[in-house]
Amino acid sequence: MRVFISADIEGITTTTLWEECNRTQAVYAAAAQQMTNEVKAACEGAIAAGAEFILVKDAHASGTNLDIRQLPRCVELIRSGCGHPYTMAYGVDQGFDAAMFIGYHSAAGRNGNPLSHTFSQKPFEVRLNGQLCSEFTLFSLVANYEKVPPVLLTGDKALCEENAGMYPLLKTVAVKEGFGSMTRSIHPELACERIKAAAQAALTQDLSKGLIQMPEKFVFEITYKEHANAVSMSYYPGFALVGERTIRMETSDYVDVVRAVKFVL
Ligand SMILES: [Zn+2]
Repeated sequence: MRVFISADIEGITTTTLWEECNRTQAVYAAAAQQMTNEVKAACEGAIAAGAEFILVKDAHASGTNLDIRQLPRCVELIRSGCGHPYTMAYGVDQGFDAAMFIGYHSAAGRNGNPLSHTFSQKPFEVRLNGQLCSEFTLFSLVANYEKVPPVLLTGDKALCEENAGMYPLLKTVAVKEGFGSMTRSIHPELACERIKAAAQAALTQDLSKGLIQMPEKFVFEITYKEHANAVSMSYYPGFALVGERTIRMETSDYVDVVRAVKFVL
């Protein structure tokens, strides 16, 4: 069995401040270590379920947060980026049996995490087909598009609750809860135990039943905090300015949506 993992940092246990997510700050080291611990736990659960190969995409900021020396030997790690439209899910393709999303966080505008955002801090709100759109929405759909079922999501409680029903086999582990600027976390070791158990359980399901049908049409709409961003991003091919701070694109090809992400978000 081959498993793909995409890992972020704002949804791991205890991260609360932007400084903790910024590699130039002293408080970052503990957060990066916990990110590695949670990815390691997911890998161990996957291996217990029979995984022989695990590809991990380090998907936070520069993509240089995880320490592969602490991960199992069947792991390969993708660091940084190459400009490919799949960004946070780069590396996923039809050769994988399942995808897992570790340390993911609530979407821009949501109260579920003090670090809520969608891809950057420019958007006030991102909507896909009318629904609030998180990074999990965007990149789990990339896996689904590549016929790889998303089976595990770990992160803040609001994100987990919102998405629990998005895919037939999706298991979730909420490691913290956000309210305003505050977080309330479970113990980091308990988080890892739960992630390991959920990863194993997720992969011992009938993986042939894990995909959803992709929508036939996508309406991708972004409302920015600053009106100037809306005006400037409206020149990206396919988008139109539809409000003072809002741009919209419609397409039948999901790759158009994710290709736009790294330019307009
Ligand atoms: Zn991040």
